[in-house]
Amino acid sequence: MNLSAGGTARLSPDVQDPALALLQRRFDRERASRKAAEALLTDKSRELYDVAEAAREAERRLQLALWASGEGIWTWDVAADRFTINDLQVLDTVHHSPPQPMAGLLAMVQAEDQQAVKLAFSLYLRQASDDIDTAFRARLQDCERWLRIRGRALTHDAQGRPQTVTGTIKDVTAQRDAEQSLHLMAQAFASTHDALVVVDARGFIVQANERAGSLLEQPCEALEGSLLAPLLGLDRPLSGRGAWHGELLLKGAGKGRHVELSVTPVQQSAAADSGCSIVALRDISERRRAEDALHRQAFVDGLTGLANRARVMQLLQERTARPGRGFTMLFIDLDGFKAVNDTLGHGAGDTLLLQTALRLRAIVGNGVVGRLGGDEFVVLQAEGSAIAQALALADALITHVGRPYTIDGQSVQVTPSIGIAACPEHGQNPADLLRSADVAMYAAKEQGRNRAVAYHGDLDHGRQRRLQLQQLLRADAEREAFSFVVQLQVDMRRRPVGGELLMRWQTPAFGVVSPAEFIPLAEQIGVIDRMGRLALRTAARVAHELAAARLLGSVSVNLSPRQLLHDDVERALLDACMAAGAEPARIELELTESALVTDVAQVGALLTRLAGHGFRLALDDFGTGYSSLSHLRQLPFHKVKIDRSFVQDLNIESRSLVMLEGVVRLCDSLGLATVAEGVETREQFEMLRRLGIACFQGYWFARPQPLAEWMAGLSVQGQAPRVVAGGC
Ligand code: C2E
Ligand code: CA
Ligand code: CA
Repeated sequence: MNLSAGGTARLSPDVQDPALALLQRRFDRERASRKAAEALLTDKSRELYDVAEAAREAERRLQLALWASGEGIWTWDVAADRFTINDLQVLDTVHHSPPQPMAGLLAMVQAEDQQAVKLAFSLYLRQASDDIDTAFRARLQDCERWLRIRGRALTHDAQGRPQTVTGTIKDVTAQRDAEQSLHLMAQAFASTHDALVVVDARGFIVQANERAGSLLEQPCEALEGSLLAPLLGLDRPLSGRGAWHGELLLKGAGKGRHVELSVTPVQQSAAADSGCSIVALRDISERRRAEDALHRQAFVDGLTGLANRARVMQLLQERTARPGRGFTMLFIDLDGFKAVNDTLGHGAGDTLLLQTALRLRAIVGNGVVGRLGGDEFVVLQAEGSAIAQALALADALITHVGRPYTIDGQSVQVTPSIGIAACPEHGQNPADLLRSADVAMYAAKEQGRNRAVAYHGDLDHGRQRRLQLQQLLRADAEREAFSFVVQLQVDMRRRPVGGELLMRWQTPAFGVVSPAEFIPLAEQIGVIDRMGRLALRTAARVAHELAAARLLGSVSVNLSPRQLLHDDVERALLDACMAAGAEPARIELELTESALVTDVAQVGALLTRLAGHGFRLALDDFGTGYSSLSHLRQLPFHKVKIDRSFVQDLNIESRSLVMLEGVVRLCDSLGLATVAEGVETREQFEMLRRLGIACFQGYWFARPQPLAEWMAGLSVQGQAPRVVAGGC
């Protein structure tokens, strides 16, 4: 639009606005009629005409001004109640609305706003307000618009009451929408869960919401004007880097919290440094804690805090995948841990593992210490380490881990058996490396425990042997392909009192295999129950034969702890006795301490029932575990078998002698008989006899022998008892 020099309002030809087009048509019409009229004008009438034309021009200018401001004009003749709207924009197509009563205007107003409009007018009429200024919703051409009416009296009556009121009317829908959305934005800014901070181009805080205030531990008003970056512990400003996203550990305000940070620049003008940025800070400390906990669960051993098996495997995977620098790995198994766990209970076992973990950590410098499970630990030495370093570390571990621990007031000792393997020589992937270290560890156990062995190819034979034996054992357990020998037991005067039934296994490939080797394997692969039942049936048969031949003495049979827990051992024993026609009193059941601790109450009840049936009960291998004799008070044992290791130490170590004295005295006071195992010399026998031990078993009297041979040596009831000669 332009206003021409000639004073006539003119519009540019490419007008798109419908209201403006309407004006244009009107101006064009007026121009045409003016041209026509000008020809007819006389000088006199021209003067009048020019005056009228000037008024029309003023009107046109007003129309244009109104168009430009988006406003229309209304007039209300109060007395006549005639309301006229002269508007282009609001009513769009109607140039002038026909005069109508006020009620007509109100009809246009949406019901919910009518009261407000009426009030605005009546307050003004009563001179209670200076002007009319009200906004309301109106339905115009089927859509709802916000209109704002403002006005004042043009003329007053004699009493000073408004007579003609006039003013503007404007469609303020867009403005209202903008206000509304601004309001919403402001609300969102204030109430969002994230901390929001608006910073200017130099990084100063322009505005911050409540959340930001609480995150940064300052009232949000106090934040305004400060530099944000130093507050967050950053040395570079946050703005001017474009949009970015990251995580941050707060070091300044809100110290220790983890936040997720996103910076979004808001460009306000073309000038590069004029823009603000919105910085959103989300406190993710909770999430981080949860993630850490998950990570811990997934990769940290719950008991010791060491890397768990998954983590160790992950590290091995990472390291073996990296070509170049090798490293060594130590596989550590605790000797004697099972006995601690079994005899002192799982709580003590856990404490021992934890203390071992602490010692390992203290000794292993910058290597990784992990726990694979149970009493198995690993150490991954730093990359570049060689076998010599691993052996040196193993020496230190043997010294430190082997020192006594104090658990629940008791001194407990375990020793480590350590297998060492090097990558890539002994394995180029986690599984192979672990297997080599495991094989070496087994070799350390076999070579007498409490030592370290570095892997070499020959060791695989041991592993091969174990695997093959397991396979054979499975098949032979199925066929019950075992035999039994008996080892004689004698009293103080060397008279036979019975014998211990010992299982034997012979395989074509390996010859005679010791039960010390195959019984643990049978327990591992779960065939011990079946083998144990065979031993019970054999014992019942022997007991029957003893009675049938009227021989003095009883037969002892070993019960594996597993049998006691998982098998219906009571039923099996009674069935075996029934089938063989044997008296339970001729059968002695040997149980190790480890059988007792797992669930003393349950095992105690079972033992009481067994004793009730007449079976005799002996505590085997006494002295190898950690149980106190207090167990014996509560359990219905008849005998305690003192372990071979005590007997072996007798000659050289007087401490064993003192301890044995105590054990014998206690057993006496509890009414328990004592049996010494593994007696190999006359000196041992004499010494043990002097201590007051009642029975003896060992190579000095007899090696395990075939059943018939053993029976032939027993005394017949009613005849003079035989005496066994020593030194077999
Ligand atoms: P154990 O119950 O302590 O059996 C005594 C072991 O000591 C036997 O070994 C026996 O031959 C050996 N021995 C006896 N006197 C001496 C001696 O003077 N010096 C030495 N150095 N050793 C002696 P064996 O027969 O090899 O049995 C080993 C272990 O296998 C047994 O230890 C027992 O725990 C287990 N075992 C044997 N037969 C069975 C069975 O039928 N069932 C179960 N569950 N375990 C069995
Ligand atoms: Ca035994
Ligand atoms: Ca024994």
